[in-house]
This record gives sequence, C-alpha cells and structure tokens, in this order.
Amino acid sequence: MTTATLSNVQRLQSALANSPFDVLHVTNLVNAQWLSGFTGSSCSVFISPTSSVFVTDSRYTVQANDEVTDMEVRWHQAPKSAEQMWDEVLTELGAKTVGYEDSLTVARLARTQEKLGQFTWLKADDSIKPLRMRKTPDEIAKVRDACALADKCLEHVHRLLQPGVSEMDISLDIEFFFRRQGSVISFEPIVASGPNSAKPHGHATERKLERGDFVTLDLGCKLNGYCSDITRTFVIGEASPRHVEVYEQVLRAEQECCQLCVVGASGKEIDAHARAILDEKGLAKYFGHGLGHGLGRDVHDFGSLSPSSEDTLDEGMIFTVEPGVYIEGFGGVRVEDDVLVTAAGPEILNAFPRGLTIV
Ligand code: ZN
Ligand code: ZN
Repeated sequence: MTTATLSNVQRLQSALANSPFDVLHVTNLVNAQWLSGFTGSSCSVFISPTSSVFVTDSRYTVQANDEVTDMEVRWHQAPKSAEQMWDEVLTELGAKTVGYEDSLTVARLARTQEKLGQFTWLKADDSIKPLRMRKTPDEIAKVRDACALADKCLEHVHRLLQPGVSEMDISLDIEFFFRRQGSVISFEPIVASGPNSAKPHGHATERKLERGDFVTLDLGCKLNGYCSDITRTFVIGEASPRHVEVYEQVLRAEQECCQLCVVGASGKEIDAHARAILDEKGLAKYFGHGLGHGLGRDVHDFGSLSPSSEDTLDEGMIFTVEPGVYIEGFGGVRVEDDVLVTAAGPEILNAFPRGLTIV
C-alpha cells in the first residue's frame, strides 16, 4: 500500500508502531477531526495499533453517525460521564498505558488520573504534526477547492473597491459570499485601506475608501474542513511612483519565494530570501512578521516559513507565502498565495491576478 491510499488513521497507526503506550487518546479537537472527518465541536479519538474508536456526547449522535464512517462511534449521555466512557473504551482495547496530548489540560489530566488510575498516562510526542503537514491527495483536493472559492470571492468583492465604500461593507460582503457558497470564513477578513493598510492585521473599520489609497484584502474560507488564505493589495484611483515601487518589490519577493518552495528547502532560508529582496530597496525594516505559515485544517496550521522555522519542506506540504511592507503614515502592501510542495516543484493554488491593480 502506498501513502496515497492510506487513511489518516492508518498513517497514524504506523507512525505509532514503536510508541511506549498501548493507546493514544487524541483530545486536540482539530487532530480528532482530522482523523475522523467529524465537523462538530466535541469529540475525542482512541487509536490503538489495530483499532480506532470515536467518542462524542449525545448532542452529536446523528451527526457522528453521518460523518464518521471508518471508525467505531460511541457517545455518552448523563448520568454517564466522559471519563466513564473513556474507561469502558480503554478497558475494551486492553490498554495498560495511554498516551495523552498537550491539549489535555493539567486539571483535566489530574481528574482523569484520579478516576482512571488503573491506567498509566504518558505524555505523547507530537506524532500527528508531521502527518498533518504532509497532506493526502484527498486533503490537497479540499484545500484546492477552498482556494478556488477564495479566488471567486476576490473576483466578487473587488468590484466594491471604489471611493466612498467602507471597509466594513467590504468585510461583510466577503463573509456573505462565503456563507452563501456553503463555507465559513477561516478568519475574520482583513480590509485595511489608506493609513490602516500599514497595520498588518487591521480589522475593517467604518473608514471609507479614498483615491490614492492602498487597500489590502486578506481573506479565506473553510470548506469541507479545509482552509484557504489569500491576500491582494489594490490601489484606488491612481498610483504614485512610490506605490508602484513598494508594490513591485513586495510582489517580486512573493513570486521568487513561491518558486523556492521545493522538496528539501528550508523554511528559514525562504524567509531570509524575502528579506534580502525587500532590503534591496530599504524595505526589509518594514517587514515585521514571518513569511508564511502551514495551511490545512487550521488556517495557521503546523509549520512556518520564518526566521525561527526549523521546517524542511516536503511533498504534500502547503504553506502561505505572504511578504508585506507596512509604512506608517503611507500605507502597506501584502501579497499572499497558498503554495503546494510537489515532487515536480511548487504549485500555486490561487489564480487571482497578482499585478498591481488600480481600481
Ligand atoms: Zn492571509
Ligand atoms: Zn496567512
């Protein structure tokens, strides 16, 4: 069997072959959703070398039976507590030692150990992170769909970019668009115009667009459990030579760094390349955040392209590439695409045009 045909449960089972515990208890919600396909907000998963059991509570019985197709589904309802259900499952699985994740709080772990003292609880290494970073073909297809929808959203909203329209109106329209298409926003959209565009994460305000503004739109959706994240910066009315100079340099950094997203590349070196390009025009000092982050079930998923990154890029990983320059009193530019690392090279998953657009 090749990796391409294995489910996430099977991938995890083989990664856990030499672990010191009999059963891993997955309580991190996103990890549990990644394993099970469940989209509700309360569940955990037990993984042994040969079994997988999904546990939720009685609010989710119908939804769990619909969505969780390849593991055994259990639920508990009052007066039975979650811990009593965990006890039953662990006993049936023949567990003596149980791995737990960081997401199990100290208080909950203490309660669990008190009630389920017959098991030895061991802190598990993060075996799921490297698996979530390397997406399966099915996961890649879902990110691709989310990216295509983000492109459509930009096509839809960019007609609103005209003097007199408020940032808030544009932000609302972005959210309506995604909801109407059966998705949700993967984060609150950033609509930052004029001086506000110098704030990398400026939330939409009542400010109305004016001629000569830079306007940054940073938006994305979550569709079928997977996220997209795209940024484009526009100029309203007319662009000054300074607008063009800053924009062109950011775009060059973005395009070159996208092309550096290949198997074996270092997340730290790609980030350094963006800074070197911006530095040619004295702009690196205005670039204060990391170049990019992993993308998947979470919009800020595992992995990064940044000065502190220890990641080496591999096939199936997806990163955002998003250099930005933010000049107080003048404005800011960011261009962001989602890039899939493949054996044949980088593949940019967004298609919306990147050249300086004056609207
Ligand atoms: Zn973004
Ligand atoms: Zn991003």
